[in-house]
Amino acid sequence: MLTNLNEVLPQARKEGYAVPAFDCIEDFMIRTILDTAEKKKSPVILMSLRHDLEGKGFSYIAGLINKVAPEYDIPIVLHLDHAENFEFIKQAIDNGFTSVMYDGSKLPFEENIKNTKEIVDYAHTKGVTVEAELGHVGGMKLDGSREGDSQLTRAEDVKIFIEKTGVDALAVSIGTAHGVYESEPELNIERLKEINEISSIPLVLHGGSGTPVEQVQESIKNGIAKINIFADLRISMYKGLLEAAKKAEQEGRIDPTPDVLFEPIRNSLSDAVAGKIEDLFADNRV
Ligand SMILES: [Zn+2]
Repeated sequence: MLTNLNEVLPQARKEGYAVPAFDCIEDFMIRTILDTAEKKKSPVILMSLRHDLEGKGFSYIAGLINKVAPEYDIPIVLHLDHAENFEFIKQAIDNGFTSVMYDGSKLPFEENIKNTKEIVDYAHTKGVTVEAELGHVGGMKLDGSREGDSQLTRAEDVKIFIEKTGVDALAVSIGTAHGVYESEPELNIERLKEINEISSIPLVLHGGSGTPVEQVQESIKNGIAKINIFADLRISMYKGLLEAAKKAEQEGRIDPTPDVLFEPIRNSLSDAVAGKIEDLFADNRV
């Protein structure tokens, strides 16, 4: 069933697990992730980025998820990832997104508060939840260029930001980065503890791919209730793709059967999703 962040994150925070949040770029991913999450009895957040929603993307992604979600027994959140533009957020809400992230993390503190509050006020009238970001998670963009440097979230900013904006979930910067790591990250768990003590709302970790599982689990013990994962899914699909190509070659046909073409990719993706669900202690929660 389709729901929003407030229906899944507070429970996760209370019970000591995190809800996996996967970026989806194709219907293939949506189906594999939902089937796997249902099998593992895990709530799941399907996320989409602006790039994939433009053109007919809203129909292919949001349209499809809205249509299939009622056929699943697990809670499913349809969440807009990293949006910086109010008009685009409105468009997403009109197209059935149940949750949005407004990312004002590159803006000065006061401006981030002002914009986030405007979006929260609008989204809440539509029953849509809002995630915001405080501090900045840097790393690699999808086009291979670098984002700005990471800036750790300052604990002293958290209370005032939450109070002034009324936001539902807060993405914090504690040492992760987007994309694939050049060297192993070292999460600042002490900072997270300070933030978690102050925060009245569930916390979100971006850049979940490639972060060592012990550190991810330590972050969950200290208030992280949603973890964003994308790069690790792309890596798993790439491995499946290589296997599919090898199998097709072995088959010796120029028109490989659908099983040979897609099965290895689907299986590899499903294994990665199931593994993340277990890492996050999210299995058997529904
Ligand atoms: Zn992110």
